[in-house]
Amino acid sequence: MRLSRYFLPVLKETPAEAQIVSHRLMLRAGMIRQQAAGIYSWLPLGYRVLRRIEEIVHDEQQRAGHIPMLMPTLQPADLWRESGRYDDYGEEMLRITDRHGRDLLYGPTNEEMITDIFRAHVASYKDLPLTLYHIQWKFRDEIRPRFGVMRGREFYMKDGYTFDIDKDAAVHAYNRHMVSYLRTYERMGLQAIPMRADTGPIGGDLSHEFLVLADTGESEVFYDNAIAGLTLGGRQVNYDDRDECAAIVHEWTTPYARTDETHDEAVFAEVPEARRESSRGIEVGQIFYFGTKYSEPMGAVVSNDRGERVPVHMGSHGIGVSRLVGAIIEASHDEKGIIWPEGVTPFHCGIVNLKQGDSGADTACEALYAALTARGLEPLYDDTDERAGAKFATQDLIGLPWRITVGPRGLAKGVVELTSRRSGESEELSPEAAVERLAEIYAGR
Ligand code: ATP
Ligand code: MG
Repeated sequence: MRLSRYFLPVLKETPAEAQIVSHRLMLRAGMIRQQAAGIYSWLPLGYRVLRRIEEIVHDEQQRAGHIPMLMPTLQPADLWRESGRYDDYGEEMLRITDRHGRDLLYGPTNEEMITDIFRAHVASYKDLPLTLYHIQWKFRDEIRPRFGVMRGREFYMKDGYTFDIDKDAAVHAYNRHMVSYLRTYERMGLQAIPMRADTGPIGGDLSHEFLVLADTGESEVFYDNAIAGLTLGGRQVNYDDRDECAAIVHEWTTPYARTDETHDEAVFAEVPEARRESSRGIEVGQIFYFGTKYSEPMGAVVSNDRGERVPVHMGSHGIGVSRLVGAIIEASHDEKGIIWPEGVTPFHCGIVNLKQGDSGADTACEALYAALTARGLEPLYDDTDERAGAKFATQDLIGLPWRITVGPRGLAKGVVELTSRRSGESEELSPEAAVERLAEIYAGR
């Protein structure tokens, strides 16, 4: 993309309404625009990051064997009357009446709808296990929308639903989700710690929340820092292997890690003092096993291998896709701006032309652009007439992990400069070597 033809409305001033750094930086970098309290347009740069996060979520869900689909944002109230949640959900539910006087709602989640789909089409244990998921906009009329996309009213969420014949099988589905979530966050350059959670209004008896540590997080968290060093790395996981998934879950859930809602001082005191940490965290996902809470009242029943009709065991599993954009920035920025992890960056690198209009510099930038594109990379080429200082400031603000700087002085020596946004370190190398280096860095991402 050439910046002169792009739409990147960066702001010079720091917007006064934004209280936390991710919100400020998203506004300044021209990623979002607020349209009403807690409701945002995703401008082109923000939209690119949202899409990259969404792609990682899809990829890891499908790797785990989960099946994508799409349910609507509007739902009939009658479905929620069946589960009893139409009245229970309260003021957070946006209720709508259509021209025929029928009650609808903008879905805050989809347990009822997926249970309806299941009961209409599945009748036998032979069709289980089954995990269906979608990524769709949700609406919750939060009393205090704030922190930009981190606590919106309209937000983008992945929600997956598991159907199994009994509790053992459902616990495997739960474990599979935990492992796939750990991989998902790791690919985004995040460490998200699973913490034991209350099951809340969704109900049930097994739940973990995934928290990214950040000072601005809304939850208070307590953990054994032995968990902070765990990574899956390149580990291959066989998602059909119950023992293997259970072992990974065991590894990640054995060290103490809880939010203020489930924190237990007495148990925490057993962790050696040097390893006891308390800080704040951002919830970026949650998994639940809730048994037959919806299948029983809604009649989602299957026949088992003895021919008996039994309610199906269910779980639901969410990832805050739009919240993650803010959470990643909270975890990865400096005083100059955002620092995107390579896994989610909106463009793979920037190209800064120090002397636009100089035929040598222009030709070298065009050649770099073509060579990077040919290698499957997407550069953002700053071909505007801005001063070099302003171009660097924009690059730092929008946070592309790599920048190639091209100017007549370097070209006279046959080199360009490759700079890491994270370390600030630069290296002079030939344009061909710079392309090669970036292709290596992004291989497999
Ligand atoms: P919270 O406790 O932050 O209100 P929740 O526990 O009610 O969230 P879930 O029902 O678990 O949310 O939804 C799954 C995920 O969706 C959450 O882990 C979070 O990342 C995201 N999410 C929930 N509410 C919002 C919101 N208002 N804005 C943006 N993302 C949200
Ligand atoms: Mg939650």
